[in-house]
This record gives sequence, C-alpha cells and structure tokens, in this order.
Amino acid sequence: MIGLVDCNNFYVSCERKLDPSLEGRPVVVLSNNDGVVISRSNEVKALGVGMAAPAYKVRDIFQKHKVAIFSANFNYYLAIAKKVMTIVHKYASEVEEYSVDEAFMNLDGWEWKGLRPYMKQLREELREEVGIPVSVGIAPTKTLAKVASELVKKDPKSDGVGDFSSGVDVDAKLRSLPVEDIWGIGRQLSTRLREERIITAYDLKSASEEWIYKNLHVNGLRTVYELRGIRCIDVESKRAVQKSIMRSRSFGRYITTVDELREAVAFFASAAAEALRADGCIARRIGVFVMTNRFNDDPKYNNTMWRMLPEPTSSTQIFARHARELLDTIWREGYKYNKAGAMITDITLAKNRQPELDHDERLERVTRAIEVVDTINTKYKCSVASLASQGTNFAWQSKQEKLSKAPVEYIEPNLKFRFMTHVPISAGKKVM
Ligand SMILES: [Mg+2]
Repeated sequence: MIGLVDCNNFYVSCERKLDPSLEGRPVVVLSNNDGVVISRSNEVKALGVGMAAPAYKVRDIFQKHKVAIFSANFNYYLAIAKKVMTIVHKYASEVEEYSVDEAFMNLDGWEWKGLRPYMKQLREELREEVGIPVSVGIAPTKTLAKVASELVKKDPKSDGVGDFSSGVDVDAKLRSLPVEDIWGIGRQLSTRLREERIITAYDLKSASEEWIYKNLHVNGLRTVYELRGIRCIDVESKRAVQKSIMRSRSFGRYITTVDELREAVAFFASAAAEALRADGCIARRIGVFVMTNRFNDDPKYNNTMWRMLPEPTSSTQIFARHARELLDTIWREGYKYNKAGAMITDITLAKNRQPELDHDERLERVTRAIEVVDTINTKYKCSVASLASQGTNFAWQSKQEKLSKAPVEYIEPNLKFRFMTHVPISAGKKVM
C-alpha cells in the first residue's frame, strides 16, 4: 500500500502555529509582492476566494469578513516543512517528498501494524510535535492515495485518514470526485473529458482504454490503470537531479540603474549556486534575464542571455561574475526594470564529475572558500557572509508588508530561495 501525507492549507497552518488565536478565523497568505493568494483557510475557501486570486480583486471580501492577511514567509514555512518530513521519514523506509508539504510513503511491509491506526498515529505525532494538521490517504496506487486524501480533506466529519486499503466501496468514492480533481488531470484535459461525458473519477476509471490511449496517450492510460488499483507510478525515494535552478523576483520598486540591477543579479546567481551546492551538484550554463512591467504603458524591454562555462562548477564567485557580465551585455539604459533573475542549467552530480586533465589548484581553493561561507551562513542562520558584488542595501527586495515574525530558529539560509516563486500547482505537476 501507498500512503500520501498532505499538510492542510499549509502556509495558513504555519501562520496559525505562530498565533493560535487565528484558529477558526479566515486567514490568507499572499505572494508576489503581496499580489496573489497562495494559501487559504477553509473559512476563506467557503467565501469563494479562489487559489491564485489577485489580492486587489478580493480586497472587499477580505475587509468585510475581517480576513487575517499575511505576506508569504517562505523561510519559516520551509523550516516547518522540514520538521514535518523528518517525522514522516520515521514511518516508512521509502518516502518521496513530492512537494514542500506533501509526501508519498511506501507502506509495503507495515500492514501488520494496521495501516489506518498507524497513519492516525503519524497524524497525531505531527499535530503534537509540529502543530500542523494533515490529511492522509492510503491506497494501492499513488493516484488513489491522492483521491483518498482529497476526499477526507473535503469532509469535515472525517478523522483525517482516508483508507482505501480494505472494506471501502472505492467506486462510490470515485463517483463523488470530479474528474478535474484527479492527480495529473489538469483543467484543460478535464474540459476534453467532459465533452466525452467523463465527469467523475469513476467515469474515467471505466473509460475505454482505446479512446484514452488515442486521446490522452500513455500518461492518461497510466492514470486510468492507477484508478483501477494497478500500480504504474512508483514511490521515488531517490530524488532526481534538478534540471534547472532559477532564482528571480519581482522588485518592490522599479530599478533604473545598472549598479542596482547588477547587485540583484549577483544575488540571484549566488542564491542559485547555493542551492546547487546544497544538492551536491555542479553545472556549466548560466543565464540571466531582465524584464520591464508587462501591465503598464511604459516602454517595454525583455531580454535573456545564456553562457556556457569552460568547465562545470558550483562556485558562487564564478556564477556571479558571469551573471554580471551577461547583465552588462543585455542592459539597456532608460527602462524601468521590475524583474530579473539568474538561471543555472546543465546540472550534474558533483561526484560524477569527469576527472580534469589539468587539475586547477586555484579553483580548488575557491571551492574551499565557498564551503566556509556556506558553513558560516548555516551556523548563524542568515546571510552573514556574502560576495561584495551582491551589495548590502537590497533596494530591489520584494514588498512584504504583512510578514509574521517567525522565531530565528526557523530561518533556513541554504534553502531560502527554493520556494520563492512557489505557487501550489494542481496535482501532477512537480513543484520545484
Ligand atoms: Mg497541502
């Protein structure tokens, strides 16, 4: 059997952990310069506020219902997510951390415990030790485990564990779930399915294999089999190497000078390199992009430029230097920039590196220096040590006017940018 643990309204639950008086009150968390709703309490969902709703469109609802509003505090959420995952790992030998607040567990071999009481125990431990409520699904396949957890999350009378492992009329459950809520079926696909009168999860389960293969191809067929209880997608406990790492942000105000933009780009390149090292990887391509505001009448200028490095590296200095040079090439005077970023691709595990014929002693020293910087930053829980080129005024920082005050122990320096642009995406898409 497979278990799925999914934190309920994760970012909101993190804010409630800091301030228990928010329990039972409507709460939202905003991202992107406080512009977009990225987490909603059940009370806010009941008001009809959608995921990713622009904040200005729902301001009246917020005011009328006294909704508590928070700027996303990703450092803090990430620290809580880590605590959650540490406990989840105790309950199964194989765990796939699927997104920041969700994990699949291979429960094969744990049946003797009684899977339902076992998962209830996990749920209670997470509630007591971390203070975060979760929903759990138990089923023979990942897709069904998702369905089980989805249904308990929507059922206020449930005890938080959806168990499809025995004695449940799974078909009846599948009839109650709209097809677009199935993991891997997006809105676009569900429109196509609805035209074919495939409305519920049960309809999809019973659909003709031939039609599915023709129209939804092999991935669609996999989902159908998984709904039938045939395992097609394994729990992947070994994390694959990321294909690319991007660090970028919309600025809190327009940037018009090259010096400020250089600082920002150097910072993004450094943050990306830091994430690269945290994964034990090296890379040999860096890209930089700049953008002006798409939504006003100011003159527009967007540009991206890539560069292949002579050899793969994880050095902050090297990435930051190339990022700066790329920026100087694409920089144009006279525009009001509101977003920029740095991207690293062509990533491989550092231990798979080909031995160099002309071993570079200097490079080795640079690498060791960087390791010291990482250690200092980890130890002191913030970016104490950084490159001079990043500057220190951070004029380009995002607007975050309603940030809660998380205790310092929750700040995760190495990972601080990983979920910066994370908006929980519908199931089936992996979140960076
Ligand atoms: Mg969740």
